[in-house]
Amino acid sequence: MLLLECGRHSIFLTGFKLHLKYLLQVFKQNNKNRYTFNCFEHSIREKNSFYTNLINICKEAGLPTLFKTLSLKEYIKDSETLLLRLHEQEKQLLFAAVSKAQFHTIYKEIKSDFLMEDYLGDIQLPFDYMKLIFAARTEMLPIKYKPWLKGSNIDFMCTFCYSGESDSVIHILCSCISFIAERKQFLGQNFFNHYEGLTILKCHTNYVNLAKFLKEVFKVRKVTK
Ligand SMILES: [Zn+2]
Repeated sequence: MLLLECGRHSIFLTGFKLHLKYLLQVFKQNNKNRYTFNCFEHSIREKNSFYTNLINICKEAGLPTLFKTLSLKEYIKDSETLLLRLHEQEKQLLFAAVSKAQFHTIYKEIKSDFLMEDYLGDIQLPFDYMKLIFAARTEMLPIKYKPWLKGSNIDFMCTFCYSGESDSVIHILCSCISFIAERKQFLGQNFFNHYEGLTILKCHTNYVNLAKFLKEVFKVRKVTK
């Protein structure tokens, strides 16, 4: 979720991309006297571990025919093709992992693209606000509802309102009667339905007020408990 939220690829792919980009740069200079270029061609000729690993990555990406010929033009084309495929593949894998999530069900409803979320790019936004928004969107706020502990008979009920509802992100955001004043002050209404709650968590507008609301709620929770 962190990678999706930030619109970033994994460290492996980022490192591999830098590596391939460097090779691409060298290839495009079309200078066969470059040491890097000679090493690369040598790898292909000798089929050493660098080449074997590269071919394995291509195979895993469904592109087994890349880097098979000794041609500068082909290297450039193959490197670009591989980079594009790996980026797309990783993006799809991240979204597939989210769609299978059992315990962080909100995220699949609110995350639909691979762009970095606006609130993370807002340099005016205090860091504690960012942390609260991130934790709310990814269901990692310090609250009682932790569905991964279900088997151990743990009580998730909200003890701020005793309504019988679980102390979950949606409950705090939409319906807990203990936080009506904060909801009204920062989000403009006493209550929200589930869909409206998801819309607020999407953070397309007014994420500062969401953060202010959460900060106030956790101040109250700390004092009350
Ligand atoms: Zn409650």
